[in-house]
Amino acid sequence: MKLLENKNIIVTGSCRGIGLATSQLFAQHGANLWLNGRDELALQTLSAKLTSQFKNNNHVCCFDVSVYDQVKNGFQSLFKQCKKLDVLVNNAGILDDALIGMVSQKQIAHTFSTNTYSVLYCSQYAQRLMIRNGGGSIINLASIVGVNGNAGQSVYAASKAAIIGATLSLSKELASANIRVNAIAPGFIDTDMARSIGDELYLQRVDSIAMKRVGKAQDIANTALYLASDLSSYVTGQVIGVDGGMLI
Ligand code: NDP
Repeated sequence: MKLLENKNIIVTGSCRGIGLATSQLFAQHGANLWLNGRDELALQTLSAKLTSQFKNNNHVCCFDVSVYDQVKNGFQSLFKQCKKLDVLVNNAGILDDALIGMVSQKQIAHTFSTNTYSVLYCSQYAQRLMIRNGGGSIINLASIVGVNGNAGQSVYAASKAAIIGATLSLSKELASANIRVNAIAPGFIDTDMARSIGDELYLQRVDSIAMKRVGKAQDIANTALYLASDLSSYVTGQVIGVDGGMLI
Protein backbone atom coordinates (compact mmCIF):
# COMPACT_ATOMS: atom_id res chain seq x y z
CA MET A 1 0.00 0.00 0.00
CA LYS A 2 1.29 3.46 -0.93
CA LEU A 3 0.73 5.91 1.94
CA LEU A 4 1.66 9.22 0.32
CA GLU A 5 0.00 9.24 -3.10
CA ASN A 6 -1.11 12.75 -4.24
CA LYS A 7 0.77 14.36 -1.36
CA ASN A 8 3.10 17.25 -2.18
CA ILE A 9 6.07 17.10 0.17
CA ILE A 10 9.26 19.10 0.69
CA VAL A 11 12.20 17.52 2.52
CA THR A 12 15.03 19.87 3.49
CA GLY A 13 18.59 18.54 3.35
CA SER A 14 17.48 15.64 1.19
CA CYS A 15 20.77 14.55 -0.38
CA ARG A 16 22.40 12.77 2.55
CA GLY A 17 21.70 10.81 5.74
CA ILE A 18 18.22 10.99 7.27
CA GLY A 19 16.94 13.37 4.58
CA LEU A 20 18.01 10.96 1.85
CA ALA A 21 16.45 7.90 3.54
CA THR A 22 13.24 9.88 4.11
CA SER A 23 13.10 11.06 0.49
CA GLN A 24 13.67 7.52 -0.78
CA LEU A 25 10.91 6.09 1.45
CA PHE A 26 8.50 8.89 0.55
CA ALA A 27 9.20 8.35 -3.16
CA GLN A 28 8.52 4.64 -2.70
CA HIS A 29 5.16 5.62 -1.17
CA GLY A 30 4.19 7.69 -4.20
CA ALA A 31 4.79 11.24 -2.91
CA ASN A 32 5.26 14.23 -5.21
CA LEU A 33 8.60 15.36 -3.82
CA TRP A 34 10.40 18.69 -3.70
CA LEU A 35 14.00 17.84 -2.87
CA ASN A 36 15.86 20.59 -1.04
CA GLY A 37 19.57 21.14 -0.52
CA ARG A 38 22.32 23.53 -1.53
CA ASP A 39 23.95 21.53 -4.32
CA GLU A 40 21.79 21.79 -7.45
CA LEU A 41 23.64 19.09 -9.35
CA ALA A 42 23.37 16.61 -6.48
CA LEU A 43 19.65 17.36 -6.23
CA GLN A 44 19.12 16.83 -9.96
CA THR A 45 20.97 13.53 -9.80
CA LEU A 46 18.87 12.39 -6.83
CA SER A 47 15.66 13.53 -8.52
CA ALA A 48 16.45 11.54 -11.68
CA LYS A 49 17.40 8.47 -9.65
CA LEU A 50 14.19 8.49 -7.59
CA THR A 51 12.04 9.05 -10.68
CA SER A 52 13.62 6.12 -12.47
CA GLN A 53 13.42 3.83 -9.41
CA PHE A 54 9.98 4.70 -8.01
CA LYS A 55 8.14 6.41 -10.92
CA ASN A 56 6.91 9.20 -8.62
CA ASN A 57 7.19 12.94 -9.40
CA ASN A 58 10.35 14.64 -8.17
CA HIS A 59 11.41 18.29 -8.32
CA VAL A 60 14.53 20.16 -7.33
CA CYS A 61 14.16 22.98 -4.80
CA CYS A 62 17.66 24.36 -4.26
CA PHE A 63 18.12 26.84 -1.44
CA ASP A 64 20.03 27.38 1.78
CA VAL A 65 17.52 26.92 4.62
CA SER A 66 19.43 29.33 6.87
CA VAL A 67 18.95 32.33 4.55
CA TYR A 68 15.51 33.92 4.86
CA ASP A 69 15.32 35.35 1.32
CA GLN A 70 16.34 32.04 -0.22
CA VAL A 71 13.65 30.22 1.77
CA LYS A 72 11.08 32.80 0.65
CA ASN A 73 12.06 32.47 -3.02
CA GLY A 74 12.17 28.67 -2.75
CA PHE A 75 8.63 28.43 -1.40
CA GLN A 76 7.36 31.01 -3.90
CA SER A 77 8.72 28.94 -6.73
CA LEU A 78 7.24 25.75 -5.21
CA PHE A 79 3.86 27.51 -5.00
CA LYS A 80 4.05 28.50 -8.69
CA GLN A 81 4.70 24.87 -9.59
CA CYS A 82 2.11 23.10 -7.46
CA LYS A 83 -0.29 25.48 -5.62
CA LYS A 84 -0.56 23.15 -2.64
CA LEU A 85 1.71 21.65 0.00
CA ASP A 86 0.80 18.74 2.27
CA VAL A 87 4.00 18.00 4.21
CA LEU A 88 7.17 19.83 5.24
CA VAL A 89 10.06 17.85 6.73
CA ASN A 90 12.47 20.24 8.46
CA ASN A 91 15.45 17.91 8.36
CA ALA A 92 18.49 20.02 7.33
CA GLY A 93 20.87 20.52 10.22
CA ILE A 94 24.49 20.75 11.30
CA LEU A 95 26.57 19.59 14.25
CA ASP A 96 29.50 21.78 15.25
CA ASP A 97 30.26 20.90 18.85
CA ALA A 98 32.58 22.77 21.19
CA LEU A 99 32.90 23.27 24.94
CA ILE A 100 31.23 26.48 26.07
CA GLY A 101 34.60 28.05 26.91
CA MET A 102 35.84 27.48 23.38
CA VAL A 103 32.83 28.06 21.19
CA SER A 104 32.91 31.09 18.89
CA GLN A 105 30.14 33.56 18.22
CA LYS A 106 30.27 32.45 14.58
CA GLN A 107 29.65 28.80 15.51
CA ILE A 108 26.68 29.77 17.69
CA ALA A 109 25.15 31.94 14.94
CA HIS A 110 25.74 29.33 12.23
CA THR A 111 24.24 26.51 14.32
CA PHE A 112 21.15 28.49 15.22
CA SER A 113 20.57 29.85 11.72
CA THR A 114 20.87 26.38 10.17
CA ASN A 115 19.15 24.27 12.82
CA THR A 116 16.57 26.61 14.35
CA TYR A 117 15.86 29.74 12.31
CA SER A 118 15.44 27.51 9.26
CA VAL A 119 12.60 25.63 10.96
CA LEU A 120 10.79 28.91 11.68
CA TYR A 121 11.45 30.28 8.18
CA CYS A 122 10.28 27.14 6.36
CA SER A 123 7.30 26.60 8.69
CA GLN A 124 6.12 30.17 8.10
CA TYR A 125 6.00 29.73 4.33
CA ALA A 126 4.77 26.14 4.43
CA GLN A 127 1.82 26.90 6.72
CA ARG A 128 0.62 29.60 4.31
CA LEU A 129 0.38 27.01 1.55
CA MET A 130 -1.11 24.39 3.87
CA ILE A 131 -3.84 26.72 5.11
CA ARG A 132 -5.00 27.26 1.52
CA ASN A 133 -5.14 23.52 1.15
CA GLY A 134 -7.15 22.73 4.29
CA GLY A 135 -4.33 21.24 6.34
CA GLY A 136 -0.96 19.53 6.40
CA SER A 137 1.82 18.03 8.48
CA ILE A 138 5.06 19.66 9.62
CA ILE A 139 7.77 17.29 10.86
CA ASN A 140 10.76 18.74 12.69
CA LEU A 141 14.01 16.89 13.29
CA ALA A 142 14.95 17.68 16.90
CA SER A 143 17.32 15.46 18.94
CA ILE A 144 17.52 13.48 22.16
CA VAL A 145 20.16 16.06 23.11
CA GLY A 146 17.53 18.81 22.85
CA VAL A 147 15.45 16.91 25.42
CA ASN A 148 18.11 15.69 27.87
CA GLY A 149 21.19 17.86 27.19
CA ASN A 150 24.75 16.57 26.90
CA ALA A 151 28.13 17.85 28.05
CA GLY A 152 29.98 19.57 25.20
CA GLN A 153 26.83 20.08 23.17
CA SER A 154 25.27 23.19 24.75
CA VAL A 155 24.89 25.08 21.46
CA TYR A 156 23.54 22.15 19.43
CA ALA A 157 21.27 21.11 22.32
CA ALA A 158 19.90 24.64 22.66
CA SER A 159 19.26 24.82 18.91
CA LYS A 160 17.32 21.54 19.10
CA ALA A 161 15.46 22.37 22.35
CA ALA A 162 14.23 25.52 20.61
CA ILE A 163 12.80 23.34 17.83
CA ILE A 164 10.83 21.42 20.44
CA GLY A 165 9.43 24.70 21.81
CA ALA A 166 8.49 25.78 18.31
CA THR A 167 6.87 22.39 17.61
CA LEU A 168 4.70 22.52 20.73
CA SER A 169 3.69 26.15 20.11
CA LEU A 170 2.98 25.70 16.40
CA SER A 171 0.93 22.58 17.07
CA LYS A 172 -1.36 24.71 19.25
CA GLU A 173 -1.36 27.69 16.88
CA LEU A 174 -2.06 25.71 13.71
CA ALA A 175 -4.39 22.95 14.94
CA SER A 176 -7.49 24.93 13.99
CA ALA A 177 -6.17 25.04 10.40
CA ASN A 178 -5.82 21.22 10.51
CA ILE A 179 -2.03 21.50 10.36
CA ARG A 180 -0.31 18.95 12.58
CA VAL A 181 3.15 19.75 13.93
CA ASN A 182 5.34 17.06 15.48
CA ALA A 183 9.02 16.50 16.19
CA ILE A 184 11.20 13.43 15.96
CA ALA A 185 14.00 13.25 18.52
CA PRO A 186 16.58 10.81 17.11
CA GLY A 187 19.21 9.30 19.39
CA PHE A 188 22.39 8.31 17.57
CA ILE A 189 21.90 7.57 13.89
CA ASP A 190 24.59 6.30 11.52
CA THR A 191 25.08 9.18 9.09
CA ASP A 192 27.93 11.52 8.11
CA MET A 193 26.93 13.68 11.10
CA ALA A 194 27.33 10.81 13.58
CA ARG A 195 30.63 9.70 11.99
CA SER A 196 32.00 13.25 12.25
CA ILE A 197 32.54 12.95 16.03
CA GLY A 198 35.47 10.53 15.72
CA ASP A 199 35.83 6.80 16.45
CA GLU A 200 36.32 6.98 20.23
CA LEU A 201 33.25 9.10 20.94
CA TYR A 202 31.27 7.11 18.35
CA LEU A 203 31.89 3.87 20.29
CA GLN A 204 31.06 5.57 23.61
CA ARG A 205 27.75 6.74 22.18
CA VAL A 206 26.87 3.27 20.88
CA ASP A 207 27.66 1.86 24.33
CA SER A 208 25.13 4.25 25.87
CA ILE A 209 22.32 2.78 23.75
CA ALA A 210 20.23 0.10 25.49
CA MET A 211 19.75 -1.77 22.21
CA LYS A 212 23.53 -1.68 21.72
CA ARG A 213 23.37 -0.62 18.11
CA VAL A 214 23.51 2.67 16.29
CA GLY A 215 20.23 3.68 14.65
CA LYS A 216 19.74 3.62 10.88
CA ALA A 217 18.53 6.59 8.85
CA GLN A 218 15.71 4.25 7.81
CA ASP A 219 14.55 4.07 11.47
CA ILE A 220 13.91 7.81 11.38
CA ALA A 221 12.44 7.74 7.87
CA ASN A 222 9.88 5.15 9.04
CA THR A 223 8.68 7.50 11.79
CA ALA A 224 8.59 10.43 9.35
CA LEU A 225 6.44 8.29 7.02
CA TYR A 226 3.94 7.72 9.83
CA LEU A 227 3.81 11.45 10.65
CA ALA A 228 3.50 12.46 6.98
CA SER A 229 0.72 9.98 6.25
CA ASP A 230 -2.91 9.95 7.29
CA LEU A 231 -2.09 7.14 9.74
CA SER A 232 -1.20 9.93 12.18
CA SER A 233 -4.15 12.20 11.38
CA TYR A 234 -4.97 12.74 15.10
CA VAL A 235 -1.36 13.15 16.27
CA THR A 236 -0.02 16.63 16.91
CA GLY A 237 2.28 18.37 19.39
CA GLN A 238 4.32 15.22 20.03
CA VAL A 239 8.06 14.72 20.35
CA ILE A 240 8.70 11.13 19.31
CA GLY A 241 11.98 9.68 20.55
CA VAL A 242 13.60 7.21 18.14
CA ASP A 243 16.74 6.27 20.03
CA GLY A 244 16.95 2.54 20.80
CA GLY A 245 16.79 3.34 24.51
CA MET A 246 19.77 5.70 24.53
CA LEU A 247 20.82 7.01 27.93
CA ILE A 248 22.03 10.61 27.91
P1 NDP B 1 23.90 14.81 7.73
O1 NDP B 1 25.01 15.71 8.14
O2 NDP B 1 24.18 13.44 7.31
O3 NDP B 1 23.01 15.54 6.59
C1 NDP B 1 22.57 16.84 6.81
C2 NDP B 1 21.83 17.32 5.58
O4 NDP B 1 21.41 18.68 5.82
C3 NDP B 1 22.69 17.33 4.33
O5 NDP B 1 21.93 16.91 3.23
C4 NDP B 1 23.08 18.80 4.21
O6 NDP B 1 23.34 19.21 2.88
C5 NDP B 1 21.82 19.48 4.71
N1 NDP B 1 22.07 20.87 5.09
C6 NDP B 1 22.93 21.33 6.02
N2 NDP B 1 22.89 22.68 6.06
C7 NDP B 1 21.98 23.06 5.13
C8 NDP B 1 21.51 24.32 4.69
N3 NDP B 1 21.96 25.44 5.25
N4 NDP B 1 20.56 24.35 3.72
C9 NDP B 1 20.09 23.21 3.15
N5 NDP B 1 20.52 21.98 3.53
C10 NDP B 1 21.47 21.92 4.49
O7 NDP B 1 22.90 14.82 8.98
P2 NDP B 1 21.84 13.72 9.48
O8 NDP B 1 21.16 13.11 8.33
O9 NDP B 1 22.50 12.88 10.49
O10 NDP B 1 20.83 14.67 10.30
C11 NDP B 1 19.57 15.10 9.80
C12 NDP B 1 18.83 15.82 10.91
O11 NDP B 1 18.66 14.93 12.03
C13 NDP B 1 19.60 17.04 11.44
O12 NDP B 1 18.69 18.07 11.75
C14 NDP B 1 20.24 16.50 12.72
O13 NDP B 1 20.51 17.52 13.64
C15 NDP B 1 19.19 15.53 13.21
N6 NDP B 1 19.72 14.52 14.10
C16 NDP B 1 20.67 13.62 13.67
C17 NDP B 1 21.18 12.68 14.56
C18 NDP B 1 22.21 11.67 14.17
O14 NDP B 1 22.67 10.93 15.05
N7 NDP B 1 22.60 11.56 12.91
C19 NDP B 1 20.73 12.63 15.97
C20 NDP B 1 19.73 13.62 16.29
C21 NDP B 1 19.26 14.51 15.39
P3 NDP B 1 24.85 19.36 2.30
O15 NDP B 1 25.11 18.06 1.60
O16 NDP B 1 24.72 20.54 1.36
O17 NDP B 1 25.76 19.63 3.46
